[in-house]
Amino acid sequence: MERRSQRAVLHACEECATDRHMRVVLRTAYVLYVRCARCANLRTEPKPGVRQLGFEG
Ligand SMILES: [Zn+2]
Repeated sequence: MERRSQRAVLHACEECATDRHMRVVLRTAYVLYVRCARCANLRTEPKPGVRQLGFEG
């Protein structure tokens, strides 16, 4: 039984090609700031369930 199902999916680090070291360091309304603890690469991830700045409606 995995207990990770409710966690955000963090894409693998572009430098390390692994998601094992990815840590969410900041959350905003639309994105998560994720830093790799291994190489300190910082990236953003779209927050799950949030429409991407949609101006559609
Ligand atoms: Zn990395």
